Amino acid sequence: MNTQAPIVIVGTGLSGYSLAREIRKQDKDAPLLLITADDGFSYSKPMLSTGFTKGKAADELAQATAEGMREQLNLQIRTHTSVSGIDPEAHELVLGDERLSYHKLVLAWGADVIRLDIPGSGRDRVFSINDLVDYRAFRDAVEGSRRVAIMGAGLIGCEFANDLRNGGYEVDVIAPSDTVMPGLLPREAAEAVRDGLAAEGVGFHLETHVERIDKSADGVTLSLANGRTLEADIVISAVGLRPRTELARAAGIEVGRGIKVNRYLETSVEDVYALGDCAEVDGHVLLYVLPLMACARALAKTLLGEPTQVSYGTMPVMVKTPCCPTAVCPPPGGAQGAWQVERDGNSVRALFRDADGRTLGFAVTGDYAIEKQALAKEVPPLHA
Ligand code: FAD
Repeated sequence: MNTQAPIVIVGTGLSGYSLAREIRKQDKDAPLLLITADDGFSYSKPMLSTGFTKGKAADELAQATAEGMREQLNLQIRTHTSVSGIDPEAHELVLGDERLSYHKLVLAWGADVIRLDIPGSGRDRVFSINDLVDYRAFRDAVEGSRRVAIMGAGLIGCEFANDLRNGGYEVDVIAPSDTVMPGLLPREAAEAVRDGLAAEGVGFHLETHVERIDKSADGVTLSLANGRTLEADIVISAVGLRPRTELARAAGIEVGRGIKVNRYLETSVEDVYALGDCAEVDGHVLLYVLPLMACARALAKTLLGEPTQVSYGTMPVMVKTPCCPTAVCPPPGGAQGAWQVERDGNSVRALFRDADGRTLGFAVTGDYAIEKQALAKEVPPLHA
């Protein structure tokens, strides 16, 4: 191992830059090299589904260029550079024909969007949005359009539906589930969000899916499994994400639903760590900002010689549907208990309680959404 080699972080999303920032809080000079397949702009990904509501174009959502980050944090950054392999024994990364030594390696390379293989001549009008580059392409394409169809009624599909309505677009949402955000929200809270979006004019086509997308005279025609057709100018596919694990698996690193790491963020291979959307941390795959920030704080200490376990606190997720403000803190997987729900129109307070009456999770919508901070104090942290 070359001990003069830098700490190498692959990825300049929130995980990569948050880790670099945390390292710099403690050590101004440790050699740090960030490598990214994209242009290295620093931006807050959650803001991508608020562009129209905030009246901002894609690049106005970015905070700094790679050059700006290089100066701010005293880093080396290689942009438009894809890692194609890892050689853990040699402590080297493979970048096409080049090999690059690392002292410690951090994988912060995110998740891939799931792409459905839908037949038809209109596939080039389908956009997935999981980074600023995707969002720029979408904003260019949607300019001058009127009708947007969204495949998927998860958090991202619902947020884009609300944001595009705020931007004056006609929006249809198509999903196989019978309500929105299944798996994240209990039914009554999901219905409140769906009703709120419907009242804003979002059309819902639930319990069906898109079978074909074909070019039409002035856009595309989506053929649904329920026999209906929909006309749109552009389609967003928001059907889910899959942590990037392939290169890690090929290097002999243990993977599960994500790249498996313990609470020190160590993979199964020496000197290789992972955090963010690509990681499965102590059994949890949480594709949100608060978990990656907690990981970045702990990992910075570990990398600088003070081994530190990540501690996940209570981490509510805010759903950015301003027509029906929503916060959710799902109960941990496998928790025993039941939802207790109060509903007043689109205001829902749902508490997941165990047999002793302890609140293990919650979802609040509408007027009850302001209770999120108080409720978050009641819910025990994931890591006690
Ligand atoms: P990414 O941001 O995906 O970064 C991955 C980086 O790795 C990129 O720089 C990429 O270029 C690089 N990379 C990938 N492969 C390679 C390779 N082979 N070689 C070199 N570089 C590579 N979370 C919340 O908590 N609250 C929210 O309100 C919220 N809203 C969201 C709204 C939207 C529209 C989306 C899409 C997500 C939202 N999330 C939200 C999720 C949150 O934004 C993500 O969990 C987080 O940004 C993930 O950051 P990351 O750095 O792990 O991954």
